[in-house]
Amino acid sequence: MNVLFVSAEVAPFAKTGGLGDVAGALPRYLGKNGHDVRVVVPMYQRVRTKDRQFEPVLGETVIDLGGTRVPFSVYSSKLPGTEVPVYFIHCPGLYDRPNIYTSDSDEHLRFCVLQHAALRLCQALQFAPDIVHANDWQTALLPLMLRTVYAWDRLFSRTRTVLTIHNIGHQGTFGAHVLPETGLAGAAGSFHQDHLREGRINFLLTGILYANVITTVSPTYAREIQTPEHGVGLDAFLRGRRDVLFGILNGIDEDEWSPERDQKIAVRYSVDTLEGKEENKRVLLRAGGLPYVDDVPLIGIVSRLVWQKGFDLCVDVLPGMLRHSRVQLVVLGTGEPKYEQFFGELARRFPKQVAYKRGFSEPLAHQIEAGADMFLMPSRYEPCGLNQLYSLRYGTVPIVHRTGGLADTVQLFNARTGTGNGVVFDHFNGEGLTFALKYALNLFGSGRGPDRARFQTVQRNAMSASHAWEERVGYYEALYRRIAPG
Ligand code: ADP
Repeated sequence: MNVLFVSAEVAPFAKTGGLGDVAGALPRYLGKNGHDVRVVVPMYQRVRTKDRQFEPVLGETVIDLGGTRVPFSVYSSKLPGTEVPVYFIHCPGLYDRPNIYTSDSDEHLRFCVLQHAALRLCQALQFAPDIVHANDWQTALLPLMLRTVYAWDRLFSRTRTVLTIHNIGHQGTFGAHVLPETGLAGAAGSFHQDHLREGRINFLLTGILYANVITTVSPTYAREIQTPEHGVGLDAFLRGRRDVLFGILNGIDEDEWSPERDQKIAVRYSVDTLEGKEENKRVLLRAGGLPYVDDVPLIGIVSRLVWQKGFDLCVDVLPGMLRHSRVQLVVLGTGEPKYEQFFGELARRFPKQVAYKRGFSEPLAHQIEAGADMFLMPSRYEPCGLNQLYSLRYGTVPIVHRTGGLADTVQLFNARTGTGNGVVFDHFNGEGLTFALKYALNLFGSGRGPDRARFQTVQRNAMSASHAWEERVGYYEALYRRIAPG
C-alpha cells in the first residue's frame, strides 16, 4: 500500500515525546513489510544539523491560505537505516523557532501549512496514497481537507484516512477567526457548528468527525477517552464513532532500545546476564555523584515534568519516603518550573540519595533505563507510555498508576504465584503511591539472597514479554486493509 504518514514530530529528527518515537518507528516497520510509506514533518531548525544531508525535492511553492501567502519548499532524507523517505517542509518563517510547539499567534498556521504542503507534495510527486495517516491535532484536518478542497483531484480518489490520537489533552483549539487560514473556509459547514457559533474551532475534533478510522495508543485509553472523566470534552464524539475507534499499543523500536545491543549504555546485558545491569547501576550512580551500596534500590524517572505525569503525588510522598527508607532516586526531565524546582530541591536535601538532571538527554535516558532497579511513572493519565515498555525490556521494574497503556502493560507482581512484571496502584492519591513504593521496596528487600532471587523473578517476567514493533505493525496493516477500497 501507499501510505502517507504526517506528524509534527519524527525521531530522531525532532522529538519531544512518544509521538516522535512512534513516527520514527511505525513507518520503518511498515516499510520493512513492503509498503511504500512516506513521512512528512516540518523542517524545524533543530532538524538541520551538520551531519545530515538533504535532497531538494520541491522548489519554492506558495500556498494561499485565506489571503495569507506562505512560501515553502521540500527536502528529503531517509529514516536512518531504512529506505523510507522523510519529506521536510522547509518554511523558516514558521518553523525556525526554539521549540517544536509554541504558543505563538500563528501556531494554527504552522500546522495547516504542514498539512496542505503534505498533500501538495503528493500532487507534485504524483504519489497516490491509499492511506493518509494523521497524528494528533497538528495533522487532524487532513481528513476534511481530502473530503473537500482536494476532493477534485483523482489522485486522492482511493485515499482513506486514519487519525491516531496520541494524547487527547492537546486538541488544537483556536478562535474561529483562524478558519480562513486553515484553507477550509469553503467547508465551514463541516466544522462543529455549535463551536463555530461560540467562536472556536477544534482541530482534533474535526479529525475525529471525518477520519475513516480513529486509533489511539492502547486499548484501555481507547475506552477511557469515551468517558467524561478522560475524554476532555470529546467523549461523546468518540462514543459516536466507537465502531471505528481502536486501541493499538505502541511498540518499542528494538534497534534503539534493547539492553543486548544498546550502544548508549556502559555494559550490554540480557535476561541471562543481569550482573551487567548492576554494572550499569554503578556507572549511573557515579555519574550522578551518588554512592553505590548494593542493598539500596535505585528508582529512575525520565519524563516531561508536567501535570499529566502525576508528579504532584511525588511532591507529597517522596520527601517522607527518602527520609525513612534506604532508597536512591535518579531523575531526568524538564517541564513546569514547580516540578523542576521540586526535584532540584530534593537533590539538595538528600545529596547521597537523589540526583536530578534538568534537561533532555537521549543517552542519559538509556543509562537510567539500564542502571535503575525500578522506574517510576505515577501518571494521572497515560495514553500508552513508552518508558514503562523500555523499563520492562531493560528489567527495570516499573511502578505505575493503573491507567491507559500502563494498565495494559504492567501487572502487579504476586509473590505467591510468581506472576506479574511490576507494581501497580489503583488510586491516584498519596496513599496509592505510598502503597506502591512500599510494595516495590519490599520486593527489592535486602537486594541479596532469596530477596534478590525474588526480585529477579519480576525482572525476568518483565523482560520475557515482547513489545517490539514487529508485534504491533500487523494491527495497523489490518486496519489499513479494512478501509482501503477493494
Ligand atoms: P509522552 O509522549 O507523554 O512524553 P511517552 O512515555 O509516551 O510520554 O514517551 C516519552 C518519550 O520521551 C520516551 O522516549 C522518553 O524516553 C522520552 N523523554 C522524555 N523526557 C526525556 C528527557 N528529559 N530526556 C530524554 N528523553 C526523554
